[in-house]
Amino acid sequence: MTATAPATAELARARGLAQRSQLPWVDLDAETIDPSAVARLPFELMARYLAVPIGFSGETVRVAIADPAACELVAREIPASLEFVVAPRDSLMHLLDSLRQTRRTRTLVALPAGELGPELEMALLTGAAEAGTTDLHFVPTELGLSVRARIDGLLREIGLIPVADAPGAVARLKVKSQLDITEHRRAQEGRMRINTSSGREFDIRLTVIPTIAGEGAALRLLEHTARPPSLTEVGLSADLQLQLERIVNRRRGALLVTGPTGSGKSTTIYAALNDIADPSLDIVTVEDPVEYRFDGVYQVEVNPAVGVTFESTLRTFLRTDPDVIAVGEMRDLDTAAMTLKAALAGTFVLSTLHTYDAPGAITRLLDIGVEPYVTAATLTAVLAQRLVRRLCIYCRVRRPATTLERAELGLDDGDHHLFSATGCPLCDRGYRGQLAVHQLMTMTDELRQLALERAGHAQLRDVALSQGMRTLLDDGVAKALAGLTTLDELKRVVSAEDAATMAT
Ligand SMILES: [Zn+2]
Repeated sequence: MTATAPATAELARARGLAQRSQLPWVDLDAETIDPSAVARLPFELMARYLAVPIGFSGETVRVAIADPAACELVAREIPASLEFVVAPRDSLMHLLDSLRQTRRTRTLVALPAGELGPELEMALLTGAAEAGTTDLHFVPTELGLSVRARIDGLLREIGLIPVADAPGAVARLKVKSQLDITEHRRAQEGRMRINTSSGREFDIRLTVIPTIAGEGAALRLLEHTARPPSLTEVGLSADLQLQLERIVNRRRGALLVTGPTGSGKSTTIYAALNDIADPSLDIVTVEDPVEYRFDGVYQVEVNPAVGVTFESTLRTFLRTDPDVIAVGEMRDLDTAAMTLKAALAGTFVLSTLHTYDAPGAITRLLDIGVEPYVTAATLTAVLAQRLVRRLCIYCRVRRPATTLERAELGLDDGDHHLFSATGCPLCDRGYRGQLAVHQLMTMTDELRQLALERAGHAQLRDVALSQGMRTLLDDGVAKALAGLTTLDELKRVVSAEDAATMAT
């Protein structure tokens, strides 16, 4: 297990730095973070100075800092007596990541629960949006519409609209999305935009589904944010981030991001685009839907109802020979073949695929009918990812790894700690927000040769692993050891197949 090595090196570095500046050092993973201390410094300044107030000793605020040189700047911002402690840069970055999520999501507690009165569905919608809901379902049952929200990847029931109010609730959602309220037999799709009380704006895509128990509705919520994420914000481990930045900035061939629906693939694509977006480049995108807007980029949202499909838009774009093209998803042979041929002609391609792991992208492309030589010649790298729930930094409990866990994870006899989820008023049963775990496969001559020979998945995976690729579980374990998530979450999300690969 090499996952712990960088953390240890960082810790040693922090210790050295602390010694030279005559400050105490702190292992943030072992600290309990006090939310009222965190509130003493605005998030933007914490991020700028890499400094986080973590607790109090009496009246004195303890501030963890990566670079002692920033002490003076931080002292100007917090009007209190301060005690500085030096913490590893990595741990501070992780802590800032968690705090960033905490700012974005609120807990479900704010949602109206139990039976919902008439016309409450709009209040419910804004409440759900504020709580970080990505999908909201109104499922017809004998008792009425069961309202279910997906938050941090998990679906749970949050309320019930009684039978008598159900048709009215669906009708009002239809009106809001400009759908035909007299149509009850066919599925309909629509859109609406809502504003929450805190001024956040959400785009909602609504699908009304006629079922044998009455009409139901599935809603997908997307926050309308001004700023796309950057590659430093998608939760990549330090070494993967470096490798990916290098791949993205070389702008050659095709970079694919894989994983199931809801694994954060498009966020990673946006982060990559954000990294290269530059007025000197001709960048085009074909998306479904557009989640972030970039200045100076041709962004097209597909709309099959008026004939704007992935295929038609790609055809138009490829005639203009762009520098970079981002395609929401390679869903069939036509889009995949067209997009990858553009990569052959020199366009840098970013896209996504539904595969279990990174090597699976090669076999998937061959399976849908892309020529082996096209696959071999264009693929630059494949990033597979999954989302796990992120541990709440305020109530996580650090504990030594058990003998069983050590054996399961292949940890050595060293001093390894994992964390347990407990729960506090600031989180949902010990979790808050999500975190991606990754697997990056960089194409090598050997892998290209195997693609040409139509090698099977197991062979591709074994060769990639022998060349240094880590499994999703490896990355997850490193993140669990860093206190970002739990083993339970990894087991829930990363399948046993991955665990089997790891054991070999
Ligand atoms: Zn908590």
